[in-house]
Amino acid sequence: MKINIVGGGPAGLYFAILMKKADPTREINVFERNAPDATFGWGVVFSDKTLVYVYDSDEPTYHGIVENFQTWDNVDVVHRGEKITIRGNKFTGIARLRLLNILQARCAELDIHPQYGVDIADPASLADADLLVGADGINSLVRTRYAEHFRPDVDARPNRYIWFGTEQLFHGLTLTFRESDAGVFAAHSYKFSPEYSTFIVECDPETWQQAGFAERSDDDARAYLERVFADDLGGHPLLSNNSKWIRFQLVKNGHWHHDNVVLLGDALHTAHFSIGSGTKLALEDAIALAKSFDGAPSVHEALVRFETDRRPIVEALQDAAQVSMEWFEHARDSMHQTPLELAYALMTRSGRIDHEKLRRRDPDFIAAYEQAAAGA
Ligand SMILES: Cc1cc2nc3c(=O)[nH]c(=O)nc-3n(C[C@H](O)[C@H](O)[C@H](O)COP(=O)(O)OP(=O)(O)OC[C@H]3O[C@@H](n4cnc5c(N)ncnc54)[C@H](O)[C@@H]3O)c2cc1C
Repeated sequence: MKINIVGGGPAGLYFAILMKKADPTREINVFERNAPDATFGWGVVFSDKTLVYVYDSDEPTYHGIVENFQTWDNVDVVHRGEKITIRGNKFTGIARLRLLNILQARCAELDIHPQYGVDIADPASLADADLLVGADGINSLVRTRYAEHFRPDVDARPNRYIWFGTEQLFHGLTLTFRESDAGVFAAHSYKFSPEYSTFIVECDPETWQQAGFAERSDDDARAYLERVFADDLGGHPLLSNNSKWIRFQLVKNGHWHHDNVVLLGDALHTAHFSIGSGTKLALEDAIALAKSFDGAPSVHEALVRFETDRRPIVEALQDAAQVSMEWFEHARDSMHQTPLELAYALMTRSGRIDHEKLRRRDPDFIAAYEQAAAGA
């Protein structure tokens, strides 16, 4: 069986690993436009600590991640300068580049040798295989090339965000709100290595306009945000990695496969970064697609099985992520709340955690919230 994969991100590499592991006679080609040590962004967070799905599908990858990750169990919400901590929320953070290096090393062990620095201009040129996988990320060319079949829906959301690193260490998933003359800024930050944290700033279009970001250079924008979050950054600068303001793109597809072509990871779907699930989804997609080939009588049957089994799970997560995304799009409407009220609203925003679940996770937080509500 010959498999061509466009994209050497988490989805493409993990799918290659699992397919080769299941049958070493498979010919697997991965094409990646970047160098193996080039990556965008800083760290990624997994919204759980167990990573049981990685353990079950490939133990060496699991051990590689566990040796390199940071874990925590608190969400911190900072509002009006006051920090509220909510415990019992397990997360794992790892440098995106470290994760890629772990997957690359695992590929080498299995005799898979991705071709780096190869920018695929026309994915159709790779379709003469048993399977062509579009694991080429949010701006997927494979998706665009076969758009009439995949019927993609790409929705550029109104908020702007920008992704930085910093040496200020945030021990826990920290959501910081700062109000200024321009409007409201929200920062999503967490430590992903002993040295660095990710620091993503998000704001609504009114705030963005009011702050004059259209006219500011990238460096000027960074300096502006360092002033907005001065009390949170503890004197550390924001570190740019070609950081630019962008709008989140919500991706869905009417069909997940066409002939022998299938989409995977961000090419197939996105979920707002506020629920920290993009990489997890990419790895789980790879697991689900690889599994669908177990005993499948044909590639077509495997692809049908993949979509049938996986689509409901992805759509449920996208629904939860949608609510979370919209909450951040309207964050300014919540700024009148006390820090405790805001923390409670944030924890329950996507509907996946209710009052009782929160009580089980952090009884002290709920007791404080109930006491404040009773006294209000
Ligand atoms: C601001 C922000 C914060 C995020 N934070 C988190 C987080 O905390 N936790 C989390 O889990 N996820 C997070 N994500 C999402 C996460 O980055 C993605 O979901 C994940 O990387 C998807 O993996 P992928 O393999 O599908 O795509 P990608 O990682 O995008 O990989 C696609 C690869 O394909 C390559 N490629 C594209 N086109 C071509 C071509 N024509 N030829 C050759 N190669 C090509 C690209 O170079 C890239 O390496 C965040 C996303 C954003 C935008």
